[in-house]
Amino acid sequence: MPAQTATPPEVRASEAPSVTPAPPTATETVTPTPRPFASRVLIVSFDGLRPDAIEKAPMTNLLTLMESSAYSLTAQTVLPSTTLPAHTSMLSGLCPAKHATYWDDYVPENGIALGTDLFDSARAAGLRTVMIVGKEKLWHVTAAESLDVFIVNANDEAIGNLAEIEIQKDFGVMFVHFPTGDVLGHEWSWMGAVQMSAYRAEDRELAKMLAALDAAGLRSSTLIILTADHGGVIGGSHGGNLPEELTIPWILSGPGVIPGPLTSFVHTTDTAATASYALGLPRPAEWDGIPVLEAFGLPSPPRLPGDPCRQTR
Ligand SMILES: [Zn+2]
Repeated sequence: MPAQTATPPEVRASEAPSVTPAPPTATETVTPTPRPFASRVLIVSFDGLRPDAIEKAPMTNLLTLMESSAYSLTAQTVLPSTTLPAHTSMLSGLCPAKHATYWDDYVPENGIALGTDLFDSARAAGLRTVMIVGKEKLWHVTAAESLDVFIVNANDEAIGNLAEIEIQKDFGVMFVHFPTGDVLGHEWSWMGAVQMSAYRAEDRELAKMLAALDAAGLRSSTLIILTADHGGVIGGSHGGNLPEELTIPWILSGPGVIPGPLTSFVHTTDTAATASYALGLPRPAEWDGIPVLEAFGLPSPPRLPGDPCRQTR
C-alpha cells in the first residue's frame, strides 16, 4: 500500500478560514472571504436516500449536523438514476455521456469509468484515498491504483466500523457508501417503515464516524459531504427521470462553510468538484461539476441554467 507522501501545498493551517459562523444572509454578498481549505474530505452516500426521508426516518444525527451545514434538499442526480452511473458522476464530476458507465452491475470486463475522477487527482497529489462501499459494482468508479484502500462490505454496521479504523489512520479523500436503505426500499417499499429503520441505523453509523473524527482531532479540518445516488418512487423503484428519483440531499459541513439552505442549483457532479476545490486540487477541464462556492460565501462559477448533463450542446 503506498504511503501518504504529502498534503497539497495549499493546505496550510495559517490560511484556515475563521470558524465563526457567518449569518445566513452572507451568502448574498460577494465580500471576499478566505478560500476554504480542508486537509481531507469525507463523502458519505446513503444509497437511495430521498431528502424527505431524513426527517421521516428520522436521521437525528444528520438533522443535528445540518444545523451547522450548508445544504440543498433539491440537488439533482443523473439519468439513469441508478447506483453505479450516479455514483460515478458524483465522484468523477462527469456526466454519464463522458464517463460512459451506464450499466448498473459488476461487470469486470467493462473496465473502469472513463475520465479523471476525484480519486485519480487526489492520489496524484499524494493524498491517501479510501473507498468503503456496500456494493461490489462500485469497483467500476475508479482505477485500483488511485485507491490506497478499497473495501466492499454489505453490512452497514461493519462499514461504519471500517470507516472508524480508516479515520484513525487519517486520509485525504474517503468515500463511504451505505447500501441497506436502498436494498430494503426495493424489498419492501420506498419511504416505508422498513426503509426508514435502515436509514436510522445508517444515521447511527454517521454518528460513529463523526465521533471518530472528533476523537482523532480531525473534525475541524475535514470537509464532509453527505448525499445520495438517487431517490425512489413510493410503490416503485428508481432509474427514471421522475423528481422523486432524481432529487437527492446534498449537505456540506466543515471549515469555511456558511450554514443554511443553498439557493444555487446543486448537481451530483458538483460533489467531486467541491471536494477537489476544498483540497486545493486542480480541476480537470473535462469536469461538468462546479464547486458549490455559495456554501463558502463566494460567488459561484458561471453555469448554464438547468441540469448540466441535459444541456443541448
Ligand atoms: Zn443506489
